[in-house]
Amino acid sequence: MNQSDTHQRTRQKTRLAPSPTGALHLGNARTFLVNWALARQRGWRIVLRIDDLDGPRIKAGAADDALEMLSWLGLDWDEGPYFQRHDLLPYRHALEQLGNQGDIYPCRCTRKQIAAASLSAPHGCDHELRYPGTCRPAIAVEVQFEAYTGNRERPNQDHNEPAGWRIHVPEGVTTFTDSFSGFQQHEIQKTVGDFLVSAKSGLPSYQLAVVVDDSRQGVHQIVRGDDLLRSTARQLFLYERLNLGPVPSYTHLPLVVGEDGRRLAKRHGDSRLAAYRQQGVAPERIIGLLAHWCGLEPRKPMSLAEFLSRFQFENLPREQVQWTRAQDAWLLGH
Ligand code: GLU
Repeated sequence: MNQSDTHQRTRQKTRLAPSPTGALHLGNARTFLVNWALARQRGWRIVLRIDDLDGPRIKAGAADDALEMLSWLGLDWDEGPYFQRHDLLPYRHALEQLGNQGDIYPCRCTRKQIAAASLSAPHGCDHELRYPGTCRPAIAVEVQFEAYTGNRERPNQDHNEPAGWRIHVPEGVTTFTDSFSGFQQHEIQKTVGDFLVSAKSGLPSYQLAVVVDDSRQGVHQIVRGDDLLRSTARQLFLYERLNLGPVPSYTHLPLVVGEDGRRLAKRHGDSRLAAYRQQGVAPERIIGLLAHWCGLEPRKPMSLAEFLSRFQFENLPREQVQWTRAQDAWLLGH
């Protein structure tokens, strides 16, 4: 191995991992820009990964839109794009390992049943319900993981209904220190309970897929929105059960919100990058606003090179960034 091979192997890696569930908007763009700038300032390699396992929420054309918009802003990457759907085998292997270890069990509960059963129990996070343990076997036993394949006619199947798979989560607190959001603690069993690692569709869950991918792709720096802070405990738990070695370092950034303080969404107007581009807005203007949201003053159109030379992680605002009508007008040059 020559010196540059060794260097490649030891360089830290991060990833840009858009979910093609909608068009890239200003909020996603800010997180990607910060992630990219940190990588380029600190010499991390960048993997581009399309997280396209989220079943019905995936939108046709959204992956292409994300790739095109990232390139339009000038963001580049060193590996990929990798598409999760292109190779499901690594997830299957992880699920088989969990099955052999007696960590998982099949569950055919519907959301409605879970909602009904957990009415008197503590509720999960946001719209996530706490799983009350209905299908959990009393003793953890080795099981053979079998993904639902859509073939309901197979012989020797006890049930015709497809099963999801859940992981036994012990009681207890998971802690970690986030490099932006600080010390975190979370009780998985109390908030979401035994969570899904494989959906009834036969596809691996987001929690499982992200851990398997970050591990096999050598990603050790995760920068993302703080809506995923509460998923991190679940992901750390999976690292441990899958025996994947050193866990990544996490940087969770506050989300961009609308004037009502709620997470940026369609109801706040059209903040899609593609829409601004269509109206003739230059990427320098978008970067100028994102730079302003990263604490760079004064607000002005800015090249990516200038942003990279001036961006300072330490100066990132601690609070949520607000997208206003006035900023929209500034972008449009009104
Ligand atoms: N693809 C996920 C998203 O866009 C991010 C995955 C992750 O950072 O773990 O929300």
